[in-house]
Amino acid sequence: MSTTRERTGSAMLHPEMRAAADPDAIIRGGRRLDHAEGTSKPLRPAPEPQPRGAKVRGNRPIDQQEAAARFIAATEHEKMHDERLWDLRQKRDREMHGIPEGEELRSLASAIKEHTLTHLDEYLDQFEANARSNGIHVHWARDAAEHNQIVHGILRDHGATSLIKSKSMLTEECGFRHYMASVGIEVIETDLGERIQQLDNEDPSHVVVPAVHKLRTDVAKVFSHTIGTDPGNTDVHYLAEAQREATRPLILNADAGMTGANFVVAETGTFVVCTNEGNADLSANVPKLHIASIGIEKIIPRLEHLAVLVRLLSRSALGSPMTQYTSHFRGPRAGGEMHVVLVDNGRSERLGLEEFWTSLKCIRCGACMNTCPVYRRSGGLSYGATYSGPIGLIIDPTFNARKYSNLPFASSLNGSCTNVCPVKINIHEQIYAWRRVLVKQHEVPLAKKAAMKAAGALLSRPAAYRAAIASADTALAHLPRFVIYNGLNAWGKHREVPHPPKQTFHSWYHTNRGAKR
Ligand code: SF4
Repeated sequence: MSTTRERTGSAMLHPEMRAAADPDAIIRGGRRLDHAEGTSKPLRPAPEPQPRGAKVRGNRPIDQQEAAARFIAATEHEKMHDERLWDLRQKRDREMHGIPEGEELRSLASAIKEHTLTHLDEYLDQFEANARSNGIHVHWARDAAEHNQIVHGILRDHGATSLIKSKSMLTEECGFRHYMASVGIEVIETDLGERIQQLDNEDPSHVVVPAVHKLRTDVAKVFSHTIGTDPGNTDVHYLAEAQREATRPLILNADAGMTGANFVVAETGTFVVCTNEGNADLSANVPKLHIASIGIEKIIPRLEHLAVLVRLLSRSALGSPMTQYTSHFRGPRAGGEMHVVLVDNGRSERLGLEEFWTSLKCIRCGACMNTCPVYRRSGGLSYGATYSGPIGLIIDPTFNARKYSNLPFASSLNGSCTNVCPVKINIHEQIYAWRRVLVKQHEVPLAKKAAMKAAGALLSRPAAYRAAIASADTALAHLPRFVIYNGLNAWGKHREVPHPPKQTFHSWYHTNRGAKR
């Protein structure tokens, strides 16, 4: 008796499976897989959700610790972020040590910036005169609001309703995108990382690599919601290409383009923009109207100074000898119009702060962030401010001492940031100085103030300190666990206290080297 299968032959099969040469057939081990085998995929765990940044509530102090704890708890994100940035730090070291004059360049860069900042008014006037003679319209903005209004005015005069822009931390400072949305102007970011952040309605988390805190799965999710990509496809080429396809038409039809500037040269009235994607060149050259928003501290006196700073910027930022595109802008192209908006937004005031004015030397390379152990593990958005990482700790309180009063405490003061800074800003000393200032201004919670006072009293009395250490070691060795790890001990939430040594260093030294107590 024949079986059912023999009786029906291939009649039960889908016509596609019967086709002799099916181009879509999946062959594995010389055998054609049947329908279910061919289409089923192994079950994968759901991707780790992306941790979001600090909660910003008006003028209330940002709780960086709380946001950092959430980032640390997202272990895949934290690991990737830490490794990616440490990789940049190592590349930076290789590139900087690869040129024998590396340290000399840092000293020169620091001297150029300090000289310029102490003669800022002269060089700004010189730039303005030379830029105007190059055919550039120059505007001055006292603050963020004025900047946004000036740019809006220029766009209105030209009937522009869409603007493509390259990455600019200054426009982040000014809340530019939100303002433009409120007046009905469409802004399209052309830097890939910045575009990802824009589509995700997030701020940049790093000054050079704005979306570095995101996993591929996060980007796939954002793109699937906003530009309709396949949510399961996390291939970087696919995602980048899809974004390019979606954005190119917007770029080609934009009414105006905006860039920032990395350096502004007083003697020539020109400015320079460094990118790795060439996107600033699109913003500057596709539409006929080009607007450049530039912080007043970006100025340098002469073209020869540019060589020093350009050599340092990319080496410090990404560990590469040069940015892919170092574009010089001298004036409007034929039939076009160029505007430069020189923005103060608190810089003049910062220049007058004796302990903090040298923070204006910053060339936004991000090296201090890449090396900072706190930043690498907590993510840039945990700072809840435009600038994060070590440079953020010293710039942000100049905008709002109360709101950013917790930030200078998010540092181990190890000095690594200072060691890598290409313009030799004494970052960790300024972080420490901010702590003193904030305590004096009563911007530090009473509990923290009392703890600091007690620590200060203890550390300034050697005998009391030694006695405290000895009893702390005994206590740590014998106290029940809940006494040390409880809700009051924020430090212990994510860490284990190391086993106390049997002997303190001081007592070991006394025993073995005969030092007097
Ligand atoms: S402070 Fe120094 S290291 Fe940090 S971003 Fe600025 S220039 Fe770079």
